Amino acid sequence: MFASSYNSLLVLFSLLVAILASYTALDMAGRISSAQGRAAHWWLAGGAVAMGTGIWSMHFIGMLAFSLPIPLGYDPAITVLSLLIAIAASAFALWLVGRNELPSSRLFCGALLMGAGIVAMHYTGMAAMRMAPGIRYIPSVFILSVVIAIVASGAALWIAFNLRRVSPLVRPLRAAAAVVMGFAIVGMHYTGMAAAQFPLASVCGAARDGVNAGWLALVIIVVTLAVLAIALIISVLDLRLESRTSMLAISLAEANQELTYLALHDNLTKLPNRLLLEDRLDRAIQSANRENNRFALMFMDLDGFKTVNDAYGHHTGDLLLVEVAERIGANVRPQDTIARMGGDEFVLLAGVAEPADAATLADKVLTAIQEPFQVAGRVLRISTSIGIAMYPGDGGHRGDLLANADAAMYHAKSLGRNVYCFFEASMNAHVHEQLQLVQDLRSALVRHELILQYQPKFTAPNGPVIGVEALVRWSHPTRGLIAPDLFIPMAEKTGLIVPIGEWVLDEACRQISEWRTAGHWDWTMAVNLSALQFSHASLIQTVRETLERYALEPHCLTLEVTESTAMRDADASLRILQQLHDMGVRISIDDFGTGYSSLLYLKRLPASELKIDRGFVRDLTSDTEDAAIVSAIVALGQTLNLKIVAEGVETAGQRDFLTRLGCDSLQGFLLGRPMSADDLMEALSQDNVLNDAT
Ligand code: C2E
Ligand code: MG
Ligand code: MG
Repeated sequence: MFASSYNSLLVLFSLLVAILASYTALDMAGRISSAQGRAAHWWLAGGAVAMGTGIWSMHFIGMLAFSLPIPLGYDPAITVLSLLIAIAASAFALWLVGRNELPSSRLFCGALLMGAGIVAMHYTGMAAMRMAPGIRYIPSVFILSVVIAIVASGAALWIAFNLRRVSPLVRPLRAAAAVVMGFAIVGMHYTGMAAAQFPLASVCGAARDGVNAGWLALVIIVVTLAVLAIALIISVLDLRLESRTSMLAISLAEANQELTYLALHDNLTKLPNRLLLEDRLDRAIQSANRENNRFALMFMDLDGFKTVNDAYGHHTGDLLLVEVAERIGANVRPQDTIARMGGDEFVLLAGVAEPADAATLADKVLTAIQEPFQVAGRVLRISTSIGIAMYPGDGGHRGDLLANADAAMYHAKSLGRNVYCFFEASMNAHVHEQLQLVQDLRSALVRHELILQYQPKFTAPNGPVIGVEALVRWSHPTRGLIAPDLFIPMAEKTGLIVPIGEWVLDEACRQISEWRTAGHWDWTMAVNLSALQFSHASLIQTVRETLERYALEPHCLTLEVTESTAMRDADASLRILQQLHDMGVRISIDDFGTGYSSLLYLKRLPASELKIDRGFVRDLTSDTEDAAIVSAIVALGQTLNLKIVAEGVETAGQRDFLTRLGCDSLQGFLLGRPMSADDLMEALSQDNVLNDAT
């Protein structure tokens, strides 16, 4: 046998190349598993070439380090074949560790196949020498080399698979693993070499082509290092790009989350908004169907919130809403949903077993809201009206449930606020129509759909006319003339009464100033005030400005306030009435007899006139009780030095009776219906009205 020897420098280089190739392979494995789509294929192809070239060149440098006493050479075709085998084995290994899972059975097969690949490459590379006679292998050492190849492959696959993910420790771990793998590859190679025996007088068939081994080694080392270095550099650059992309993706996801939150929550109170509520409502319906249980949907609208907003500004109003949201939240369970629907409307979605539980919950919320609020250094008191719809029973869909809870809420408002009310089918009928009407009323002023009619007031029994009462009507584009009883309460509820009232006052004053200039210099104009107008902060100012606008003396204007309005908050009313009185405006107490005035209070009222409610006038002749009341009112008025007006005079009998009792003035269909200014003038000029009266 020939004695063989090794160039130790080249052996060292072969080890270095093996370690570097291993590191590249581990790095590529990480890239493949994190890349997506086409990129993963490219990484697999590139990685396989780099790693295959690395392993192969380790082998080849190892061969160049080897020398025999005879000249050696390598058959190019077989050498290239061994390179291809190395690349194929690498591709297979990289593909394997790029999978999402690596069960032990797969690891085992992979180790076998890859080990076989490496063994095949090695011994194909040996065959490239074309030795004659052939190389003899010591079987035990040969088997050892095969076992080393398989075990090293298994270990390499396992390490590569587990080091794929990027973590802070991955680089040093990879480097250590690469050293181990490098030694294993080199170990396999030199074990394989140790198994080879070259009989004396062997001839190397490939030696004739004679490539200078030293130069070849240098070229291969340089090329291999270059390939591996380029692969690593690209990999590092790509990793940077990827981590930047993933950072970008994270911030994008965060931005998305933020946007979704904003889209589903109310900005002010941070409560879910209508959109989210609708979604929760749908889910609640589904789960109630599935689990056969119930829930309550409560629609809440704050009472008196608008007044707070008007009096103290939106900022205070906003702060109050936040406090209200917190208070409601403190009284419900975490799994219940409270949403803000906008304005001062909140909706509570709560799972309950019985309607009685819903009632208890509603009571709790009512009590909580009733407690005074400390907002911006002020003590504010409000209440809320709650409408409750139960599922199932009060609607099968979210739209029905919401509409029904809303209808029940309106009903609660009409019951006098600060109450809750369960939905009943009868509530629904009017709601839609009412809503439409409210919509229409909002634009009625702008579209000049409101008109005034004037009903004359006469000195009892037959005149002359001493003035008129302005009565508003709404000339609705499709419904025709609508009486004030039908829309004034609605205007009150929505606050629209304030601008409407201002318009009425203005128009009435304009009209009376026109009439007075035209010769009716002693006429007065009576204008009705509703409760909200009466308590509105700007009333005094509006009245003063309107009088000035038409250069009217204040005593030409009579403001009619119903008895119940005047008595609602007696002391506050007294202050306002006193201011109006001081200004010179006359005050009339309308619908007198229907309220509960105390005599004491009546004495202090700065009113100039009492209007006997037409309810007493109606049955005057037949009903002696009404006659007694009317005569009592007349007596009272005379004692307090108030003028007495009877309204609703429809028959001559009533007129005569009222005159006899001592009423100062009369108003009613008998003497004159409410009519337009022109009609009134015409009637008076033809003396129609007065003819009727006699
Ligand atoms: P009111 O102030 O007590 O007005 C008298 C009501 O009695 C008027 O009804 C009038 O048309 C009606 N009336 C007059 N004479 C007779 C009669 O002989 N028989 C009968 N059965 N009724 C008679 P109208 O115009 O429908 O107004 C109803 C209520 O609406 C008014 O009651 C008043 O409280 C309110 N209102 C009318 N205009 C305004 C307004 O501009 N502002 C406010 N805030 N309320 C108004
Ligand atoms: Mg009136
Ligand atoms: Mg009246």
